[in-house]
Amino acid sequence: MKQLSIVVPCYNEAVTLPKLYQEVQQQCLPLAVRVEYVLVDDGSTDTTLSVMKTLAAKNTAVHYLSFSRHFGKEAALYAGLQTATGAYVVVMDADLQDPPELLPQMLTKLQSGAWDCVAARRTDRRGEGKVRSFLSNSFYQVINHASKTQFVSGVRDFRMMTRQMVDAVLALPEYTRFSKGIFSWVGYRTTYVSYPNQHRVAGESSWNIWNLFKYAADGIFDFSQLPLDLSVWIGLASFVMSLIGLLYIILRYVLVPASSVSGWASTICIIMLFGGVQLLCIGIIGKYIGKIYLQVKRRPLYLVKERH
Ligand code: UDP
Ligand code: MG
Repeated sequence: MKQLSIVVPCYNEAVTLPKLYQEVQQQCLPLAVRVEYVLVDDGSTDTTLSVMKTLAAKNTAVHYLSFSRHFGKEAALYAGLQTATGAYVVVMDADLQDPPELLPQMLTKLQSGAWDCVAARRTDRRGEGKVRSFLSNSFYQVINHASKTQFVSGVRDFRMMTRQMVDAVLALPEYTRFSKGIFSWVGYRTTYVSYPNQHRVAGESSWNIWNLFKYAADGIFDFSQLPLDLSVWIGLASFVMSLIGLLYIILRYVLVPASSVSGWASTICIIMLFGGVQLLCIGIIGKYIGKIYLQVKRRPLYLVKERH
């Protein structure tokens, strides 16, 4: 019998985790696979770890690891994938926003051999704020123009993959991990199952608008060179404009010598404008250098304090 690993990153999910476990058990019982749980405690400050311990005491198929501190969801996902041993691996959130009812059909699709990955896709954004939906949609438009990697709107991290694809994902050595992009970048045959948006069963999302904004920016910087290209084009445009301006000044000086009047205000404005553009471009380059710096330091993505 093949094994299905269920990887769950958890950050303060003491309330939701038992509910998830119960639902997943129910869905997986009739399936012809051995189920293994890999629960990753991302430095939770509540009793998530003791909940994991209780589950592990009840069921020997439950494995957990606990980070030395909060490292973020991407690190937790990576740690979970590294630990999972199944022929099939599914990644899901602890808050039941990724419905376990989809597991049987995902598995059937994967077992048919026609696909390497089955991802769940929300058909709507019901219950999500208007501003948040608008920003999300804008992000997908920008990144799909900027990057060769395709990003599908409404796809969460909830997906079931074959061992081959998981190994490919793990083989990417990047430090700043943007999973949405990595899953798409590695390729393989991906199909989607649709479901209506779900609410969290309990607790609160740990993402606010500012975090999401930084996450989106990371995606754009990690998977495209659009910001660098933009700064080159802005630089080129201002160079051409200043050449035209220079030509105009020289011509005016030659043709109508008496007309040269000094204009301080406009000069200062233009200096400030180009000073700003230069700082912006340096900032963009700095952002990429920062990423290179993080990468060359080769710090581990996470540290484990306890594992079972
Ligand atoms: N999560 C995590 N580390 C974090 C943030 C979130 O491990 O820093 C986990 C969280 O416990 C949950 C999943 O990632 O299982 C999704 O988190 P959340 O529900 O807060 O995000 P949203 O559903 O709003 O995208
Ligand atoms: Mg959630």
